[in-house]
Amino acid sequence: MKNDIKIYLAAPRGFCAGVDRAIEIVKKTLEKYGSPVYVRHEIVHNKNVVESLKKLGAIFVEEISEISDFSRPVIFSAHGVPKAVPEQAKLKKIFYIDATCPLVSKVHRETEQLFKKGFDIVLIGHKNHPEVIGTMGQLPNGSIKLVENLRDIENLKFSKSVAYVTQTTLSVDDTKEIIDALKKKFPDIKGPIKEDICYATTNRQSAVKRIAPDCEMFFVIGSRNSSNSARLVEVAKKSGCKHSELIFYGKKVPIDKIKNCKIIGLSSGASAPEELVQNFINEIKQKMNVSIEEVITANEKVVFKLPKELN
Ligand code: SF4
Repeated sequence: MKNDIKIYLAAPRGFCAGVDRAIEIVKKTLEKYGSPVYVRHEIVHNKNVVESLKKLGAIFVEEISEISDFSRPVIFSAHGVPKAVPEQAKLKKIFYIDATCPLVSKVHRETEQLFKKGFDIVLIGHKNHPEVIGTMGQLPNGSIKLVENLRDIENLKFSKSVAYVTQTTLSVDDTKEIIDALKKKFPDIKGPIKEDICYATTNRQSAVKRIAPDCEMFFVIGSRNSSNSARLVEVAKKSGCKHSELIFYGKKVPIDKIKNCKIIGLSSGASAPEELVQNFINEIKQKMNVSIEEVITANEKVVFKLPKELN
């Protein structure tokens, strides 16, 4: 006889407007310009998405220097790129389309404006994440100080006015702690008018926070290199569900552990297709009687326009 299990399904979850737009840009570019089309870096951090686009004719490279056919278009990923990247493409006369999420571009513009106004700039974010590399690369080397945690603030010294911006996919709560500490050390520090952590990150974390305290285990479908997915696992743990884990590409559903539970929670990162969530549920259904309750904490209606090259 099958055991009963209830799944609290977080909503919103999965694809955000920036990810939808980036994937659509690759598909539309293939339609309009034919294949192959180069994509610099994973268009969004999800292996399933990357593999399906490869099948349509996308070639993924990490750098412009890896492109062998300059007559083909190249697309920059949703995470954004340093200024040097489009400059490199122009030098090689490669036609490019920028799939940077408009909310990441907003942070790029903020950073440039602050620099022009003479501010010293702090970026709160994770070292080596492509979005952080892209944001730091909007300004000359060394113009932005990266702060990853509270410890990094101890060594900060500035001789002029200081301002901060943040990565878009951070933990809302951890970032608040860092911002509070920055404000304590630099009382006049200037922040963004509107929060840099994006609506999708904020909404997905709120939904997880609502559900996780009532769950014996919590699962987040997403890739290991997806910042917002990793944050969702942390948020679930901090909200009281210690057994929270990421279900990444190739990882088996831990059905033996799930079989001992009555209630589990489920969400997915902003770059994870809904199909993966449904596959996860279907695997559990083979072994257990599943009832699903979708817990909706926000309705998202954000849609971003495609770049002019594709209109
Ligand atoms: S997670 Fe936020 S910043 Fe990143 S692509 Fe989605 S909407 Fe844009």
